[in-house]
Amino acid sequence: MRLVVHKYGGTSVGSIERIKAVAERVRHARALGDQLVVVVSAMAGETNRLFALAEQLSDVPHPRETDVLVATGEQVSAALLAIRLQALGMPTVSFLAHQLKIVTDSRHGGARIRSIDCSRLRSALDEGNIAVVAGYQGVDPEGDITTLGRGASDLTAVAVAAALKADACEIYTDVDGVYTADPNICPEARRLERISYDEMLEMAGLGAKVLQLRSVELARRFNVPLLVRSSFTNGEGGTWVGQEEKAMEDVLVSGVTLDQNQSKITLTGVADRAGLAARIFGPIADAGIVVDMIIQNASADGRTDLTFTAARGDLRRALELVRIVAAEIGAAGVRHEEQVAKVSIVGVGMRTHAGVAAKMFAVLAAEGINIEMIATSEIKVSVVVNSKYGELAMRALHDAFLGREAGAAKPDA
Ligand code: ASP
Ligand code: MG
Repeated sequence: MRLVVHKYGGTSVGSIERIKAVAERVRHARALGDQLVVVVSAMAGETNRLFALAEQLSDVPHPRETDVLVATGEQVSAALLAIRLQALGMPTVSFLAHQLKIVTDSRHGGARIRSIDCSRLRSALDEGNIAVVAGYQGVDPEGDITTLGRGASDLTAVAVAAALKADACEIYTDVDGVYTADPNICPEARRLERISYDEMLEMAGLGAKVLQLRSVELARRFNVPLLVRSSFTNGEGGTWVGQEEKAMEDVLVSGVTLDQNQSKITLTGVADRAGLAARIFGPIADAGIVVDMIIQNASADGRTDLTFTAARGDLRRALELVRIVAAEIGAAGVRHEEQVAKVSIVGVGMRTHAGVAAKMFAVLAAEGINIEMIATSEIKVSVVVNSKYGELAMRALHDAFLGREAGAAKPDA
């Protein structure tokens, strides 16, 4: 008998009709003889609604109380799904985080899971039940309710699958898998049959929103095979996320991503001496602002320009901090661009094939798109371009690396 964890996201349980459809799907899976744990998110929009309620009552709601509030969304959908499954004649038990001892640290709103005690889940399953688990929530060592971060029902599902050593974790969502690019921007984008954990991690980190980043990290660590598929269609479909296989290296680029939520800050005329980068980036790191790409221009006259990118939401705070340091260290000035586009290509094939970055630059050059910054890792090349060319860059790169004629066009290795 297989043990499978299903996870249904907010749109999949977004209405009574949708919950009925999920129950039908669960019934089919159960009829195949699998043991089933079903993790659910709050109904679509519910978590936002709850956050907004708190904000109407206080500018700074206490995180402990906010967690008590927002964790209720998942409690509702877990109970509703269990009620429906029972109505269909299927023995079902629902569980909240404290009942499963999903113990986390006390970082409200972004707690990390420390342990899960599977004994209750196991006995429920062994007694022939379907177990429905509320995602997103945990309980800290004092017994206080915590939440794991936005989108973290995925994380609950993977953690439960890892703890139970499940055969697979199937993530049901509103798209039928992981695509080579955002199909709204790239009509030619295709669903991937399989993708490695490393590629998925890069793509999730680069803004492909199918899976929550931490859930992919956890799946990789515990080697939990993930299947991303749609709860809206009945076909097979889906994308497997798992360990790298030899054949994956034959594909140079598995996906192209576009992040339009980046800003760029430049300090000009910075004296070129030891310790200044630490002076500039220390306060930014202390403020919890994640800096992505950094470029320092070589200087002829003992002064350099230093440019970095950060999420647009962090721009204002980053600018305040940078202006203070700029004045202290006598930099000539601070410039910024509120929106820039980061376009990236991702693929494990880059490890073994040369010339991928060069081809990327040539493709952008052919479109007349100027590259402002470049960053690379073992399996990724990212460039920053003017935001108005972001979509064009994505389409051109998809065409060149993943389009119908791209198959043969490998660079010389
Ligand atoms: N309901 C939570 C959220 O909206 C968790 C989830 O959907 O995964 O972030
Ligand atoms: Mg989600």
